[in-house]
Amino acid sequence: MRTYLFTKILDPNFFSLYKNMFGCPVCNKPFSRKYSVKGHILTVHEKQRPYPCDICPKKLSTKSSLKRHKTVIHENRKPYACDSCNKKFATKYVLKRHKINKHLFEVVENRPTENKRFRFCDNRVTFRIKPIPENMSSLVWFNKVFEGILQYFKKTYSPGDNDMVGLTIHNSAFPDRDAFISMRRHKDLDVETVIKTISNVCQSNTSFNITGDLDVCYKQIKM
Ligand SMILES: [Zn+2]
Ligand SMILES: [Zn+2]
Ligand SMILES: [Zn+2]
Repeated sequence: MRTYLFTKILDPNFFSLYKNMFGCPVCNKPFSRKYSVKGHILTVHEKQRPYPCDICPKKLSTKSSLKRHKTVIHENRKPYACDSCNKKFATKYVLKRHKINKHLFEVVENRPTENKRFRFCDNRVTFRIKPIPENMSSLVWFNKVFEGILQYFKKTYSPGDNDMVGLTIHNSAFPDRDAFISMRRHKDLDVETVIKTISNVCQSNTSFNITGDLDVCYKQIKM
């Protein structure tokens, strides 16, 4: 430590470098201009946001963050739209990453059959599962696929808190048996249950591969 300080002080640039510096009295961060210290104290320590947006109620801490806010939020400079969900992105790269992570399958066919009298609905959907993206482990992928499928059903058919739901999953990978998940309250139908059921069904199947079309029936009883 002593050697370090000594060599530092022997360095002729050491003092000239710090001679004209202004330190923040709160955190000691050095600044080359006095007004920078002032701005730093206002935004970081007093958490002031002196730059109001003239379009919305948001206030920003610096001129540059206000500018960024206006381009992204108000000028909507996000020219890359996802063709699956319409979400917009500022760069091609971010859109690509979104598509890889969020859209692991597409809906090929959707055939709801409703029995209004018994408040019962069979929502049969065929999902076309895409290949595992590079750099994604098969376990993560498997989880994401079924999480996405469950989300799709719950979003599309928005069950009430007391509605009972169940699933039947059919794939050419397990032709002799459907994976069947019995009716339960919709909040009790989670991705862990689905994955456990599928792995039970596939235990005897050595060449399990979910890629391809997956027929899923989401059974719903409105309570
Ligand atoms: Zn400070
Ligand atoms: Zn704004
Ligand atoms: Zn999307």
